[in-house]
Amino acid sequence: MPVHALIVSALLLGGRPVRFDSALRPQFTVEQIQNTSDATRIGLAKWAATPHGRKLIEFFQATGCEITVIEDDAERGIGRAPEPGIATLVAASTHPSGRKRFEIILNPTYYRLPKDMRPLAGQLASPADAMAIAWAGEMLHIYFYAHGISLPHHARADFQDEWQAVAAELGMGTVPHDDDDEFAHSVIVRYVGYGR
Ligand SMILES: [Zn+2]
Repeated sequence: MPVHALIVSALLLGGRPVRFDSALRPQFTVEQIQNTSDATRIGLAKWAATPHGRKLIEFFQATGCEITVIEDDAERGIGRAPEPGIATLVAASTHPSGRKRFEIILNPTYYRLPKDMRPLAGQLASPADAMAIAWAGEMLHIYFYAHGISLPHHARADFQDEWQAVAAELGMGTVPHDDDDEFAHSVIVRYVGYGR
């Protein structure tokens, strides 16, 4: 691959595809920078820099997945990956390289470190960390959907293995990913009582 090649990914952020350089660093457009939050973009860069993030981005690219990313301040959690319809799941199993559309919702304003609290080692320390965790967690769900695997995912050993690997690569290996609601809320609850 030429050094300056840009990979136009199947990730749509601010309505436009995210382009990556050959090291999988995202190269955002002016519009994407104006229309999305810093935390969302920094979080994407962090996740894309991990070996597991790379693996998923390359997989989505190779298998015709198109993923629309929506920021929503009203989302009750840091992120969510709605289950696609049965037709998409069946198509994912029967035509693994056929075009498939998915969606993730991120809330970059959801996470706030409570005042006078300090993060534990291996936990979230900033909104960008929360978004890195959300990208990693929700794209993992998409990865399973793209293999035709419907919910629930959290109880699967293969899901938890992948989760623990990518969380550790992000330097946040103690962040759990179990129930979708708890995924968001436990992150907050864990700070209570640990403040100075
Ligand atoms: Zn989940």
